[in-house]
Amino acid sequence: MKDLIPRLEIRNLVRRYDRQAVVDHISLVVNAGQVTCLLGPSGCGKSTTLRMIAGVEMQDEGEIHVDGRTICSKDFRVPPEQRQIGLMFQDFSLFPHLDVEGNVGFGLRKRKKYRLPRVNELLERVGLAGFGKKYPHELSGGEQQRVALARALAPEPRIMLMDEPFSGLDNRLRDGIRDETLEILREQDTAVLLVTHEPEEAMRMADNIALMRSGRIIQQGAPYNIFNAPVDRDAVAFFSDVNVVRAKVRGSLAETPFGQFLAPGVPDGRDVEIVVRPQHIKIDFDRHGKGPAPTISYGTAVQGIVKRSRFIGSESLVELRMGYDDSVFKVTLPGVFLPKPGTPLWLMIRRDKCFLFPLEHKPVT
Ligand code: ADP
Ligand code: MG
Repeated sequence: MKDLIPRLEIRNLVRRYDRQAVVDHISLVVNAGQVTCLLGPSGCGKSTTLRMIAGVEMQDEGEIHVDGRTICSKDFRVPPEQRQIGLMFQDFSLFPHLDVEGNVGFGLRKRKKYRLPRVNELLERVGLAGFGKKYPHELSGGEQQRVALARALAPEPRIMLMDEPFSGLDNRLRDGIRDETLEILREQDTAVLLVTHEPEEAMRMADNIALMRSGRIIQQGAPYNIFNAPVDRDAVAFFSDVNVVRAKVRGSLAETPFGQFLAPGVPDGRDVEIVVRPQHIKIDFDRHGKGPAPTISYGTAVQGIVKRSRFIGSESLVELRMGYDDSVFKVTLPGVFLPKPGTPLWLMIRRDKCFLFPLEHKPVT
């Protein structure tokens, strides 16, 4: 197989403000025709990373390569306009005094005569044929977004950087425009680096997700890997509510009110957390906690008392107070299931769907 040179590769990027690293040794590869998402909570350093790749902000350490060529390192820097990188941001930032033609053609260095056919071709591609003479204020949010896309595509960028580009659109519009945008970018074989703080958006759009926290990438991989093999409790909690059971390990087993959990390789006496998503708790409707579990994979059923239940669209969310330590568990079930507050239910944890994480041992000071 031919060696694949990544379209975009960043190595050990660092950016500090007031000696505090807000981007802390980030390394990442994005291939042509692929979408990679930088996903993480607000303030974790996503936009700063994007700005360094665009070249509008200088890194303190690290390197950026495009198609195997260094575009930015300690003592070398290609200016932003020569990087063949397209940008799309949340606020579209169209020029209000230019019509659609003017906006889309802005980045094209061709003479006016040659520019117009390309502009029209792009407008057609984004479904806005005939909109050339309109001004941004005459367009809906979705239309402005498409103009921004056409403008970003005009110089045929090799890389597209997108910073929460869909968050200004209402939900109904968003899905459609998101899918169309990606389809166009994939067709052009562009490498896309998309920033979002919404896990659902990342799961929907990305071939690869880089999960960020406090300036670092804590996990990278395909969406199903990030979802199904999270590295720690916070990585689980970023995608859904979580239920947590604490336990101490003895003989590679964690003993809990829900029965034993395998803890291979965890030393005796170590505290662990067993983390389980609301959809992976099973309610024991048949036996109400009496008698053995239906299969070994469910362990022991534990009683909880319903606190609140709500229908949240295609599924129901039930919150229960657990008898053994007063903690609150969240359980989701498909369809409408709305038990009254005070109702006792028996919960079981699916062994194949829960995660066990050893807790850090904090030195006593
Ligand atoms: P995100 O896009 O993930 O929300 P940012 O990259 O915008 O995060 O910001 C990361 C951190 O860097 C934040 O704590 C932010 O306050 C800080 N920051 C960003 N830009 C500057 C700046 N120009 N000066 C000082 N701090 C900054
Ligand atoms: Mg940001």
